[in-house]
Amino acid sequence: MDVQAQRPPLLEVKRNLELKTSLVKASSRLPLPGSKLKRGADQMEDALEPAKKRIRGLGTVTRVDTGRPRGPRLSTVSQTQAHAAASKGPKKTGPRGCTTVATASAAPMVIKKRAKRPAWDLKGQLCDLNEDLKRYREKTQTLDQENQGLREQLREAQEQAAGLGAERNTLEGELASVRTQAEQGQQKLETLSARVLELEEQLSTTGRLIEELQKERLELQEERRALSARLEEQERRLQASEADLSSSQAELLCLREKTAAQVTLLAEQGDRVHGLEMERRRLHNQLQELKGNIRVFCRVRPVLAGEPTPSPGFLLFPPGPAGPSDPPTRLSLSRSDDRRSTLTGAPAPTTRHDFSFDRVFPPGSKQEEVFEEISMLVQSALDGYPVCIFAYGQTGSGKTFTMEGGAGGDPQLEGLIPRALRHLFSVAQEMSGQGWTYSFVASYVEIYNETVRDLLATGTRKGQGGECEIRRAGPGSEELTVTNARYVPVSCEKEVETLLHLAHQNRAVARTAQNERSSRSHSVFQLQISGEHAARGLQCGAPLNLVDLAGSERLDPGLTLGPGERDRLRETQAINSSLSTLGLVIMALSNKESHVPYRNSKLTYLLQNSLGGSAKMLMFVNISPLEENVSESLNSLRFASKVNQCVIGTAQANKK
Ligand code: ADP
Ligand code: MG
Repeated sequence: MDVQAQRPPLLEVKRNLELKTSLVKASSRLPLPGSKLKRGADQMEDALEPAKKRIRGLGTVTRVDTGRPRGPRLSTVSQTQAHAAASKGPKKTGPRGCTTVATASAAPMVIKKRAKRPAWDLKGQLCDLNEDLKRYREKTQTLDQENQGLREQLREAQEQAAGLGAERNTLEGELASVRTQAEQGQQKLETLSARVLELEEQLSTTGRLIEELQKERLELQEERRALSARLEEQERRLQASEADLSSSQAELLCLREKTAAQVTLLAEQGDRVHGLEMERRRLHNQLQELKGNIRVFCRVRPVLAGEPTPSPGFLLFPPGPAGPSDPPTRLSLSRSDDRRSTLTGAPAPTTRHDFSFDRVFPPGSKQEEVFEEISMLVQSALDGYPVCIFAYGQTGSGKTFTMEGGAGGDPQLEGLIPRALRHLFSVAQEMSGQGWTYSFVASYVEIYNETVRDLLATGTRKGQGGECEIRRAGPGSEELTVTNARYVPVSCEKEVETLLHLAHQNRAVARTAQNERSSRSHSVFQLQISGEHAARGLQCGAPLNLVDLAGSERLDPGLTLGPGERDRLRETQAINSSLSTLGLVIMALSNKESHVPYRNSKLTYLLQNSLGGSAKMLMFVNISPLEENVSESLNSLRFASKVNQCVIGTAQANKK
């Protein structure tokens, strides 16, 4: 909207208003209509009263002053003079043709000076006064007319002002609406500017996007070109590969035929291998039988540091029938009869005791050598024959050394248990090539004073051994199991090592409670072996038992026991009883007696399934090299000889 175009009328209004205001001001300076001018003749006379007084006082009147403090002085003129002034003087034209009478410019009324009448001329004076009155009346008339004109002008001016006021209101209304419109326009303009900015922003973003897309398009085109090149290359290769493939397929056909022929051959060879394996087992078993299902090996430990050297010839190991290269099977022990020498005073006579076993290991024999002799027996357990290996002898004769090995973790000193397990694991691995899968579960218990304790106990039961009982695995089952004992599956040497270490710790804890308890208890390491040939539907399983027996020493019959040693006696009796029960069981089996007293001791009961017809047994009799132990050595050797004489029926493999 063109605001400027509206301005001139507004200025016009303003000017009119100013004019009006000035007119009103001017009018306010005029004598108010009806105030002084409307005064009556008497009032006029009142006003004239001081003049009269002065005139009376002074005798002459020169001028009459209205005495108004503000505004232009209104001079009194005679009607003629006023008319002359009005007709002669230029007529002032106000705005809009208003005519004003220039009253200020009127000449002041001059009262003609008369000759002073003598005081006595009262008539003359009255005449003068009447003259003056007449003049004043004329003047009043003139002023009334003037006043009338001015009022007219005032009314006109007021009307004009009212019109201008209305015009002003209208214009103000218009101005307000114009302002509102201008504001709205401004707002719209702002909104549009913002929108324009926004659109410009969008435009620039879109521009950038388009640039990016173009760049991307170029890249994709480049990529497409590269891919096309690769595709061509691949296609060339594919063609070459297809050519290769067809020749390979021909080759494959040929190879398949060959493979089929070889598979048949392999199956035939597999059958032959299996047949040979079965034959090996049969022959192995026959050999074991020829060697005897119960064998006794004697091992003499070396003299340890700090021990007295035995007299030469105390222990002799005569060579085998085939000469010195033949492994020894005999042992000769000489014992001097001290009692006879003290009686006669002559040098003590010596008695030679000769023993013959399946094998004798003199003091220098290595652990490896000892194991070699029993490795075949251990393998029998894989073939399904229960195997039992005992270490018998007095305390300190080397039973634990033989079974578990020497302390210090020297691999050279490893005993039968770790060596046997390693051998079994490696043979099982070999047999897996022939379709056999084997699993092994180990347990290790201690029988002390006819109570069974788990040596593999862990946690809170560690070292204490919970109540363990020997029970049948199930109703009608031949298999025996120890309740509360851990049965740990093993598949590598490391696991076996951990178990032996744990057993050692458990024994050490018990030893603090009871002195040298380990020598007074039997330790039974059992390994349950299960083998399966899934393809041929064959299964075999047998336990391998490695038993470190309690010290076989007897109490000196001449020794008097103190009250504290009663327990020791009971212990010894229990040991002796269980060891003699073992002997009796072997005898009963050998004599094929109808009753075998397995139940007479926990040890024989636990080993029931590994002693007897189908089982193979090996007993190590450990001997001390010291002369002071000669009588215990003799006892051990005698017991072992008895066992060695036993022949237990033909062993039967536990095959299913
Ligand atoms: P046992 O178990 O019969 O009581 P040990 O096996 O504890 O006897 O042996 C007693 C001591 O003799 C141990 O210090 C052991 O290291 C040592 N010993 C036993 N046999 C041999 C051996 N063949 N070679 C070397 N030291 C042995
Ligand atoms: Mg021992």
